[in-house]
Amino acid sequence: MPDIIQLLPDHVANQIAAGEVVQRPASVVKELLENAIDAKATDIKLLVKDAGKALIQVMDNGSGMSATDARLCFERHATSKIKSADDLFNIHTKGFRGEALASIAAIAHVELKTRIEADELGTFILIEGSEITEQSFVNTPKGTSISVKNLFYNIPARRNFLKSTTVEIRHIIDEFIRVALAHSSISFSMYHNDQEVYHLPSANLRQRIVALFGSKTNEKLVPITENTDILNLIGFVIKPEFAKKKRGEQFFFVNNRFIKSSYLNHAITSAFEGLIADGCLPSFYLYLEVPPQSIDINIHPTKTEIKFDNDQSIYAILRSTVKHSLGQFNIAPLLDFERDASLDTPYQFKNKPISKEPPIEVDRNFNPFKETLSSKPNRIEIKEHLNFISFESEISQQELAIEEVVTKHKTFQLQSKYILSSIKSGIVLINQQYAHERILYEELFKSTSLSNLTIQKLLIPLKINFNTPDLALLKSITNEISQLGIEIAEFTKDSIVISGIPVLIDENKLNSIFDSLIHAFQNEIPTDSYSTTDLIIKIILKNISIKTGSKLTEKEQDELVNHLFDCKEPSISPFGKKTFVTLSLNDFDSFFN
Ligand code: ADP
Ligand code: MG
Repeated sequence: MPDIIQLLPDHVANQIAAGEVVQRPASVVKELLENAIDAKATDIKLLVKDAGKALIQVMDNGSGMSATDARLCFERHATSKIKSADDLFNIHTKGFRGEALASIAAIAHVELKTRIEADELGTFILIEGSEITEQSFVNTPKGTSISVKNLFYNIPARRNFLKSTTVEIRHIIDEFIRVALAHSSISFSMYHNDQEVYHLPSANLRQRIVALFGSKTNEKLVPITENTDILNLIGFVIKPEFAKKKRGEQFFFVNNRFIKSSYLNHAITSAFEGLIADGCLPSFYLYLEVPPQSIDINIHPTKTEIKFDNDQSIYAILRSTVKHSLGQFNIAPLLDFERDASLDTPYQFKNKPISKEPPIEVDRNFNPFKETLSSKPNRIEIKEHLNFISFESEISQQELAIEEVVTKHKTFQLQSKYILSSIKSGIVLINQQYAHERILYEELFKSTSLSNLTIQKLLIPLKINFNTPDLALLKSITNEISQLGIEIAEFTKDSIVISGIPVLIDENKLNSIFDSLIHAFQNEIPTDSYSTTDLIIKIILKNISIKTGSKLTEKEQDELVNHLFDCKEPSISPFGKKTFVTLSLNDFDSFFN
């Protein structure tokens, strides 16, 4: 057999490496921003077009590169940051692998302009698919500007794999925020399609957080600080009463590098135990400084995990420092030792007076008897052959009808969960939550196609604050939201102003509806507007539906039953749960045989 092993040409090797370093436009953003920081820039601009698919440009006022370095920086394993393997254990820079620029240049069109202080003219380099196609002198300020165009132009599979603009820009903004939070003294700005998204002057940490997440954040911050032999800790946690259901703002930085760690996350969660409601998550911005020798960051180039030598001590320090700070700022109950925390009222409810019973959203204006029975094709006469055990079987609308719809049927609520009603052939047992979800689903869907939606104008328009990425996300689904009767009067820089809502929706629920919307759309946006609407409706109805545990008056039970059987698909909830089961007289008889 002849020899078959060959060395891969550099550009092929670079392309393969690129697959690891560059997953999406946001990865390029991260690498370029980090290079600018390593070059000691104090002012960094990020320009993005078409969520990075058309252009990613980073301009910095850092050290710049000599003409030779400007050529070399695109070579694989070309780095100015380490010289020997020993240096790996004492890394103070973001990069050190010398892979990023080589990888990016292998899969995009890259334009570099750079100048060092000592030179009068800078260097211009054009490189495409790892080939330098042009090099010349250029008049350019001290520092570096790198433009990455047509990302993945030579890997169509990757390019086609990119998600929608909304999703990709969200990833870019996430990277930008992480870098900006890690370096508050550097000024940053970001533009998307020529519009300014962020303008962040050099600041202290608190100012930087507020600039990124909105002025309301300031009063929510609880400072954290602790110095020990193995770890210095500074940062902020958000007061427990502002905890949100979504995992939004949880930031750990280790030696100014953003990391993810479920282990350390757990330390914070446990410090908040008993202070935030179930299902809510603490927010935090925490900066850990440890000796570089005590961590291992020499893992996958884009991974954000990290290994600590003494992770158990770090866990303990984090937990106790956060707990202590919450106590110090009078946030935790003072004596929390001998009590069973599970019996405590979640903190966020503690200072609020007990208001009236939570309202139940039943459309009180709806009158099922307005129309004559015969005009309702769905409601048919009871069929005598309805005599099978139907616990397991699907029942179609046609096979079931409510007894005495015209007069009044008896209903009975079981355990604040089920509604029992008699039908001619026996009884029907309805799950109130699933049934109400079905009703709301069809009502809301109807309102998107018919314009007969009843809108309630808000006396005082409601302003809800959001951070920039969340606002951008909401903007992208404005059409679908307004179709459902939620009238958005305007988007301001950091808020959305609502002027009207459908009567079905309680104004008090709007905050949680928007929170859930953001949470749901953060990772994925459905591709067509039909499924976007479907998702939005499901999120809204989850927030406003009657839940298990709600006591219903007889009238409300009655309305629920009637509404349910007016639905097109009454037997199944929008989430695929059975809404009711029936038991026939024959079933009962069989019990006594
Ligand atoms: P690494 O950052 O791991 O060293 P990169 O491929 O990201 O590898 O960059 C290669 C080298 O190019 C860097 O080590 C640095 O010397 C130089 N370089 C890259 N970006 C810049 C920049 N914005 N300013 C100055 N030098 C830069
Ligand atoms: Mg780098």
